[in-house]
Amino acid sequence: MKSTLPQRKVHIATFGCQMNEYDSDKMLEILNQENYQYTDEAGEADLILLNTCSVRDKAEQKVYSLLGRLRKLKQANPKLKIGVGGCVAQQEGQQILARERSVDLVFGTDNLFELPELLAEVAQGERIARTNRVAPRQKVRNFIPEEVSLSKGANLKAHLAITKGCNNFCSFCIVPMTRGLEVSREPENILQEARNLVAQGVREICLLGQNVNSYKANGVDFVELLRRMDKIEGLQRIRFTSPHPKDFREELAEEFAELPSLCEQLHLPLQSGSDRVLRRMRRWYTLEKYLEKVALYRRYVPQGTLSTDMIVGFPGETEEDFEQTLQAIQTVHYDQIFAFKYSPRPDTPAAAYSGQLPEDVKIERLSRLLELQEPIVKVKNKALIGSSQEVLVEGPYLKDPNRLNGRSRGYHSVAIANCAAEPGELVPVRITGAKTYLLEAEPLSK
Ligand code: SF4
Repeated sequence: MKSTLPQRKVHIATFGCQMNEYDSDKMLEILNQENYQYTDEAGEADLILLNTCSVRDKAEQKVYSLLGRLRKLKQANPKLKIGVGGCVAQQEGQQILARERSVDLVFGTDNLFELPELLAEVAQGERIARTNRVAPRQKVRNFIPEEVSLSKGANLKAHLAITKGCNNFCSFCIVPMTRGLEVSREPENILQEARNLVAQGVREICLLGQNVNSYKANGVDFVELLRRMDKIEGLQRIRFTSPHPKDFREELAEEFAELPSLCEQLHLPLQSGSDRVLRRMRRWYTLEKYLEKVALYRRYVPQGTLSTDMIVGFPGETEEDFEQTLQAIQTVHYDQIFAFKYSPRPDTPAAAYSGQLPEDVKIERLSRLLELQEPIVKVKNKALIGSSQEVLVEGPYLKDPNRLNGRSRGYHSVAIANCAAEPGELVPVRITGAKTYLLEAEPLSK
């Protein structure tokens, strides 16, 4: 039904992880139903939403400094409404309203779907902070209401949240505080969203969850959910992130070899190569156990790619601990590492640990880690020259429009020469060249 509400424009600024990007998409879907159209220009918006992240350092400062800049827009246009959502909003709540006069609305990670009601109150001149948790003890809940789960899949690739929150309480992580305890979504609700995405042109879906492989709802576990996803007609590729190593089992490793649409790509966060540090991080595995999981994955998909997260400069990390991390990198030979300097997050146990390291030590360790990793990637990519890969074409390659751009099943970025395929097509290619962050290819002749 066509909305009778006046047409307005919304600008959304998203910080942080894929889960936040997914939430921003959901905000837009809700607001589209309220007759808001998206604009890239904050200056022409009637509503500006900041979807914030508090996982990394200085996130709050970044939000406040952006709000300071937006204040000028509000002075020029007093009708402009500004809202802050996401993890910083969940954490700071009312304090954001107190600190920044230009903010009209603060909404928590569980209050996203109340946006229409909240905005109606804001339109009456109210300033609101709503950061309450919905049914915090419910383990299965369709945290995305049916009427919003009809995702608008304008792209070939989409994210799809299957769990929300986390029960692991790693000592450095703020997620259980900002997103609450883990809740799994009902399988049929997930599958319906996936079918809707495919009907709208999506070819690849990445399942999201803070601890995605601990998914369980109505007797369906993560492996069973993957099997059901694999049966969706037209869905060519499935990925997922992020699995916790402690929940990575043989049954899941096997599915990489069994399910045609499940891409041979695994992101398995290690965080540190030192057992002593892993214990203090409350990760619940040792390096040895982690390496067993890697071996399991490689047994079923020897050609599969592997990426990880690493934190350097965790409180109390000695030079010896750090060298164990470097050793683990040498042993595993990752295709990609997302490495971060440790930053204390409020209300997390690690923030109060003794042995906080100076910034220069963290910077130095981070650069040593990256220096070690770069040649590994080069060697691994070079080894792919001559191999056959399947690429999902996404469009022209930005740096050279004569070539097409896409991703391999292992998630390598690939530029294809002499190819006339359309976006969304799967093209078998032969790799002809390799750079650190790009593979070059030609279509395989039929
Ligand atoms: S598994 Fe650990 S790092 Fe990941 S979201 Fe949960 S608490 Fe945070």
